[in-house]
Amino acid sequence: MTAIDWHQRAAALRPDGRLVIDGRRIAAADGATFDNRSPIDGRSLGTAARGQTADIDAAVASARRAFDGRSWCGQTPAQRKQVLLRFAEGILAAREELALLETMDMGKPIADALGVDVPATARCIAWYAEAVDKVYGEIAPTGDRALALITREPVGVVGAIVPWNYPMLMAAWKLGPALAAGNSLVLKPSEKSPLTALRLAEIAVEAGLPPGVFNVVTGYGHEAGEALALHGDVDAVGFTGSTRVGRRMLEYAGRSNLKRVYNELGGKSAFVVFDDCADIGRAAQTIAASIWFNQGESCNAPSRAIVHERVADEFAATVAALAPRYQPGDPLDAATVMGAIVDETQLRSVLGHIEAGRAAGAQCVTGGRRAREASGGYYVEPTLFDGVAPAMTIARQEIFGPVLSLLRFSTEGEAIAVANDSDYGLQASVWTDTLSRAHRVARALRAGTVHVNQYDEDDITVPFGGYKQSGNGRDKSLHAFDKYTELKTTWLRIDPA
Ligand code: NAD
Repeated sequence: MTAIDWHQRAAALRPDGRLVIDGRRIAAADGATFDNRSPIDGRSLGTAARGQTADIDAAVASARRAFDGRSWCGQTPAQRKQVLLRFAEGILAAREELALLETMDMGKPIADALGVDVPATARCIAWYAEAVDKVYGEIAPTGDRALALITREPVGVVGAIVPWNYPMLMAAWKLGPALAAGNSLVLKPSEKSPLTALRLAEIAVEAGLPPGVFNVVTGYGHEAGEALALHGDVDAVGFTGSTRVGRRMLEYAGRSNLKRVYNELGGKSAFVVFDDCADIGRAAQTIAASIWFNQGESCNAPSRAIVHERVADEFAATVAALAPRYQPGDPLDAATVMGAIVDETQLRSVLGHIEAGRAAGAQCVTGGRRAREASGGYYVEPTLFDGVAPAMTIARQEIFGPVLSLLRFSTEGEAIAVANDSDYGLQASVWTDTLSRAHRVARALRAGTVHVNQYDEDDITVPFGGYKQSGNGRDKSLHAFDKYTELKTTWLRIDPA
């Protein structure tokens, strides 16, 4: 098979940045657009529609018509399954186009977009398609005089607001369960990565999803995002993004119709390594592969290594020795493992955190600089700080870049206290060869997911979400249906003979 010339394809790319409302491409009501630039080299990818209140109103009205007309929710689960399976097949059929759009839009390596994001997106849609005709209702154990049926119904119109780090996949985590359950949806992708969401909606319509069931409004958070989250006819919001904006989602609901709000927010995940871990090398390789994956722009990135003082030097040296493998490269080169930071604002933010780490007295062991500046894009070296204290901002704030902070401890109690000393609680990891300690520490860590002696397992079958300010509710798995369905109890009287 001949290798794909991604540069040639990128040069020919002319993405359509118009909205998808009622199954059709359409410009914003007032014709407004914004310039969409690639972080790879700063080139323009054309314009995307700058959706605002009028466009959100049109999209929500379309979703409401579809819902009330029962064109989708009125289909049987088995029928919805067939459409969604075709949608998943359509995603796979368009894998190269979608991967290229994702890479150009937000800077991740093409190998990851093609090998991780596209297949995971298709699998998510297919998994919920397969699940929806296997989920049963319940009958409550109420005795002979009555029958109480407990059934799930779609909530109605769902607003999905998603970030730029895994644009397709974060959208799919909302789309899969929300559509399978019979809802209609308005998706607002990040203004930094609008392109794949628009194509997903087209592919869904081609697969047979009725018009209006899946609308996409691109635009800015404070315009389209706010209008969607404030809308009085939106029944639930599935939000993935920063804790700062997650707070606003709750305010918007309070100021409008008390819509259900499900927040998947930031993280500062702890990776705790004990001195009874037999394979420090493996722990180091795992954290390097996780914190430097996707340029460190992962909500669950293990950005705090909390390492026993007896093994910390070996751990730090091994992580640092791995850094050359993760140097940023051209995202369109299939061999690149670390790509571009999403935009200049994020680049400045990451470099600012690095400066703050230095100023606070932490030692930058490797990295810490901008890279590939001549490309016109935004790249940061894989970075490791040692000597980080729990109070430093690089130990507390989510950096969302390829920056690892190493903190040292001497007792198990101290390790747990430092790990839990965070506003966040998305994920955590514990490395030990002592079985009881593995169980004990896993129970003590306040996080939605705890890994033991690994970090990379992931599957659509398991819930994903956080404790504390990392959010509420869970994406993925059957538990995600809880967000997009209402539980209804129906009582029937049974008269005695
Ligand atoms: P962000 O909060 O800035 O933006 C997320 C989305 O919200 C975007 O579509 C944006 O346009 C919109 N938005 C921004 N301001 C808004 C407002 N005032 N009203 C309504 N909508 C608004 O986050 P980001 O920078 O795009 O993404 C990075 C964040 O996402 C990180 O904190 C990361 O941890 C988090 N994240 C969490 C998960 C998870 O599952 N927990 C997954 C991926 C990313």
